[in-house]
Amino acid sequence: MASSSSQPEGLSEEDHDLIHGSESGWVDARTSCPHLDSLSTDLTHIPTPNTPCNRCQHPNENWLCLSCKDVLCGRFVNRHMLHHFRETNHSVALSFSDLSVWCFSCDAYLDAHVIPQLRPVHEVAYVLKFGELPPVGAS
Ligand SMILES: [Zn+2]
Ligand SMILES: [Zn+2]
Ligand SMILES: [Zn+2]
Repeated sequence: MASSSSQPEGLSEEDHDLIHGSESGWVDARTSCPHLDSLSTDLTHIPTPNTPCNRCQHPNENWLCLSCKDVLCGRFVNRHMLHHFRETNHSVALSFSDLSVWCFSCDAYLDAHVIPQLRPVHEVAYVLKFGELPPVGAS
């Protein structure tokens, strides 16, 4: 009969979905990450949040690779960002849907409010998305 040997791996991105779906996306965000060395040196010039996926042209809620600034779709579409990570080992990506930052190598969210290398790009993305600076001073 049907002897399917192609069992889906227990990928942590499924857990990721659960965490992400629950609250704001800042759950358990890390305040440090050893994979920030590969980030682009110019993260003040980034594509706009409505940039389509480079591969499948999915129109919105894509991810920005913070190493090469490629815009690729997420896990609910064609997972091109995940494929990109597997091909290039570019670990850190910013979500244009909620501006959270995810490290594929750490398998965790990174707190862009705390990590100095991420704060500028988060701020730029925020301005591009909302047309104003993010609120500051709130703890
Ligand atoms: Zn895509
Ligand atoms: Zn990349
Ligand atoms: Zn990391």
